[in-house]
Amino acid sequence: MTRPRLATVWLDGCSGCHMSFLDMDERLLELAAVADIVYSPLIDVKEYPEDVDVCLVEGAVSSEEDLHKIRMIRERTRILVSFGDCAVMANVPSMRNPIGAQPLLERAYLENVDHNARIPLDVIPALLPTSRPVHKIVEVDVFLPGCPPSADIIHTAVVDLLEGRVPAAAGARFGR
Ligand code: SF4
Repeated sequence: MTRPRLATVWLDGCSGCHMSFLDMDERLLELAAVADIVYSPLIDVKEYPEDVDVCLVEGAVSSEEDLHKIRMIRERTRILVSFGDCAVMANVPSMRNPIGAQPLLERAYLENVDHNARIPLDVIPALLPTSRPVHKIVEVDVFLPGCPPSADIIHTAVVDLLEGRVPAAAGARFGR
């Protein structure tokens, strides 16, 4: 029997949701025994593969790079999970929305620095005008709120999804 293919992705988030994923501790070994982790910041795979069964997406969509990634991930993924409040409702990244992208860059790279003040346009991906929840860009199948969701909730949700059930923890959601 083919093993389910699991992925996790980090867009505009603080990595706290992935830290909570790691907090599953020895249960990670149980997951690895029943599924293949085919893409994640936690493993050394550079390209998001085709035919992913379940993908947990941490973070909001805030840059041109995030936009490209989430569209590609949606095309290659059967069940896409908004993983944590930044993905579900843009949360912390959306705090910059009332300011605007250009004033934000000027504040960070010009006004608040003492030396070599310049906006590093060749190094960082271009910001979108606002930071947006994942479901505003692509269809999302399951919402897993929390900042971050606890390791217990993540574990229950992932096991449910890998075994073909809709996770009970996915009932709550925000940010429509
Ligand atoms: S939901 Fe909370 S823990 Fe997760 S990436 Fe956003 S700020 Fe970090």
